[in-house]
Amino acid sequence: MIILKSLKEIELMRQAGKIVSATLAELGEVIRPGITTLELDALARRCIKRSGGSPAFLGYHGFPASICTSINEEVVHGIPSLRRLKPGDIISIDVGVCYKGYFGDATVTFPVGEISQLAQRLIEVSQSALYKGIDQACVGNRLYDISHAIQVTAESAGYSVVRNYVGHGIGSQMHEEPQVPNFGAPGKGPKLENGMVLAIEPMVNAGTWEVETLQDSWTVVTKDRKLSVHFEHTVAILEDGPEILTVL
Ligand code: MG
Repeated sequence: MIILKSLKEIELMRQAGKIVSATLAELGEVIRPGITTLELDALARRCIKRSGGSPAFLGYHGFPASICTSINEEVVHGIPSLRRLKPGDIISIDVGVCYKGYFGDATVTFPVGEISQLAQRLIEVSQSALYKGIDQACVGNRLYDISHAIQVTAESAGYSVVRNYVGHGIGSQMHEEPQVPNFGAPGKGPKLENGMVLAIEPMVNAGTWEVETLQDSWTVVTKDRKLSVHFEHTVAILEDGPEILTVL
């Protein structure tokens, strides 16, 4: 069942979303060659707690950290560690926050120092795929209008979209119905209604869409070990159009 949110609930989700985006902005300030992903995790936890939220991923199905840090060929669910970022890396940081019982969820892929042209273009295309998807998050459209817009944007640039991991409804639970795939046929899926809130999150690969999970049982990587980029926003579907909640 897709749970519709009241304006009061959406206001709480706006607060949660602001904490998410403030955290991502602080992380963006310190990302540089030499910093470890564990240091980024500690900074994120401080930032979230200082704002009165709690890190939603910590302990979620046993996840050991506050944020996911996925580098280069890592797609999602990378675990913060003593690994130091190197010039030319790209790092996707996924932040989830719970505030007064409501969730916000967003991801940004950051460049570390100077990056390759391919990495830069993959970042641009993935971000544009996210916004093309958000543009479709309107009352009266169908869910897979969002999916299709994302898929077309990524594939027409020569890249692929991950199939095994998808976006999701979000509210008083981090993962609610519906699933929001990054591929699909336009005009299909549930009708979008006022009060739905979705985490829309294209994962775009430079090569194959196929992925596999490493032995740590968390880190998902591309099967061909080519680069992957991830962008995500939490978006409310309202009468007057989509509102991105994970902004400052
Ligand atoms: Mg998400």
